[in-house]
Amino acid sequence: MAKVRARVAFKVGKASHIPAEILSFEGLATDKEHVAVIFKQADSEKAAPLVRMHSECLTGDVFHSSRCDCGEQLDETIERMSESGGILLYLRQEGRGIGLYNKLDAYRLQSQGMNTYEANNHLGFDDDLRDFKEAAQMLRALNVEKIKLITNNPRKINDLQSHGIEIEEVVGTRAHVKEGNESYLQAKVSHGKHKLQFD
Ligand SMILES: [Zn+2]
Repeated sequence: MAKVRARVAFKVGKASHIPAEILSFEGLATDKEHVAVIFKQADSEKAAPLVRMHSECLTGDVFHSSRCDCGEQLDETIERMSESGGILLYLRQEGRGIGLYNKLDAYRLQSQGMNTYEANNHLGFDDDLRDFKEAAQMLRALNVEKIKLITNNPRKINDLQSHGIEIEEVVGTRAHVKEGNESYLQAKVSHGKHKLQFD
């Protein structure tokens, strides 16, 4: 069984003013260094806390790349959780699990006209290699078994439920459309069956 290794207070957000805690774990299914960021001690609430599983995207999270919406989704999550509390599970599975270098190879193929899923397939990977078992392990290490999940992705819902986490409510995210990521978002909807509401 996984357990918390360290729990450290810090402040986050663009102005570094939102109090939160960052937690590391031991005993997770892989040795990936996943972390949880907890806002307003949401793990100690009796009610089901808001949870977001965010898979690392170096290009989007750090550089706010035009190719995806990950950075904007992360900002939206932090903003929302700074108000209502919540648990952000930041999962170190870059590029839907194929890794950063492979993701950059996939970007080259996307520049030649493939969509995000076709490009991964062309490189010999399945659509999505992510596994949310460790996310369930992390929640259990926090004594959280029932949540409200922020996602548009039905696969995340099913996956987490299959690992024994009860989902009381699903909360959608906004559509972060910008120049350069339109086709990426369209592919998420048409191929990945994401429930994304475009304005
Ligand atoms: Zn991204």
